[in-house]
Amino acid sequence: MGTVYLTGAGPGDIELLTLKAYRLVQEADVIVYDRLANPDILKEAKSGCEFIYVGKADSHHSLPQEEINELLYQLSLKYEKVVRLKGGDPLVFGRGGEEALHLKKMGVKFEFIPGITSAIAVPEYAGIPVTHRGVTVSFRVVTGHEAPYKKRSQIPWENFKSDDTIIFLMGLHNLDQITKKLIEIGKPKDFPIAVISRGTRSDEKTVIGTLENIWERAKDLPTPALIVVGEVVNLKKDLNWFEK
Ligand code: SAH
Repeated sequence: MGTVYLTGAGPGDIELLTLKAYRLVQEADVIVYDRLANPDILKEAKSGCEFIYVGKADSHHSLPQEEINELLYQLSLKYEKVVRLKGGDPLVFGRGGEEALHLKKMGVKFEFIPGITSAIAVPEYAGIPVTHRGVTVSFRVVTGHEAPYKKRSQIPWENFKSDDTIIFLMGLHNLDQITKKLIEIGKPKDFPIAVISRGTRSDEKTVIGTLENIWERAKDLPTPALIVVGEVVNLKKDLNWFEK
């Protein structure tokens, strides 16, 4: 029986892969990957390595999670090294924990290989530090997938009154509602916000605005995209380095 490596592929730029992930990709007998993992990484695999796409587009699962769990188990019976390659870090909204729990239940060995999460690296490529002395001492990473006005929202919106930088993943389609909710809890209408599309890739694009106008400006950006809310957004004008 083989081992399943729940591996972070980093945010996009292939050079942001860890050395450990790089080695495992080269040694893998099979690589199970999703949409956010840069497909160029697969070129590093050995000849004869099997590739299986389980394409999750943002959070819309094209293969149900249970089937991915089961697939990993079946592959571990057949192969020595199974690499499950996920965008960013496997445990930041990556469902790597669920896959590991299933493997554990089935008695399969697994390892987590951390990856550079988009939540920090994408703002960084855009010239936005998630913390900055004198501006903010903390940041939080929140799912933007849950509609803010859902009755039993699990998101503690009241906590967002603090000065934390807030990074929403999977939130572009809810951007309008997210900004309205933030204004509702007391953030100023002209509070800075950025939407960063296809971060760390050659076609990265950032749109900056206020809580009031960002939806109009950013709604048509291509995915994947994330949202950064906070005064740190103002640093981009001095720290921009990657985007032309
Ligand atoms: N495990 C991943 C996140 C999975 S959730 C990680 O650690 O990065 C998927 C969301 O991540 C997307 O909807 C988007 O909000 C964000 N994302 C991932 N890659 C991105 C990129 N290159 N640019 C912008 N946002 C990205």
